[in-house]
Amino acid sequence: MKHRTGIGYDIHRLAAGRKLVLGGVRIPYPLGLAGHSDADALVHALIDALLGASGDGDIGQLFPNTDPKWKDADSTALLRAVMTRLRKAGFEVVNADAVIVAEKPAIVPHIAAMKTVLCPILGVKPDALGIKGKTNEGLGPIGQGNVIACLATVLIRKK
Ligand code: MG
Repeated sequence: MKHRTGIGYDIHRLAAGRKLVLGGVRIPYPLGLAGHSDADALVHALIDALLGASGDGDIGQLFPNTDPKWKDADSTALLRAVMTRLRKAGFEVVNADAVIVAEKPAIVPHIAAMKTVLCPILGVKPDALGIKGKTNEGLGPIGQGNVIACLATVLIRKK
């Protein structure tokens, strides 16, 4: 099997006193995502997509949120660790695509910075990583600005 796809999803609550980090980029905003690590929901969704594609479990198995090691962890370090596993298994990333569903803040102004962080880690050119910001049209907890959700899909291939 040369090519494989994976899907990932993550959701975190917004809370006071937390930094907002998405795609490895610190976004100025009064609230941040609550979680054990830095709660970077975009990176977490990408990690689960990669692990799903390579058949290597999921983020909770590799980096349990009960492990003090991952407390306030930089999620891009977890992504790097996942890419090392993926490469050891003989895979490379063809492309990845992601959606950030957030009522606020605006995502578009930060997409270029996210790609600058994530593309070298994934080993892809900027045109092989899609990141889109969507609102939830005011609907539900996302629309009320209480949570941010992220979806990601990847295509990997055996080298
Ligand atoms: Mg998460």
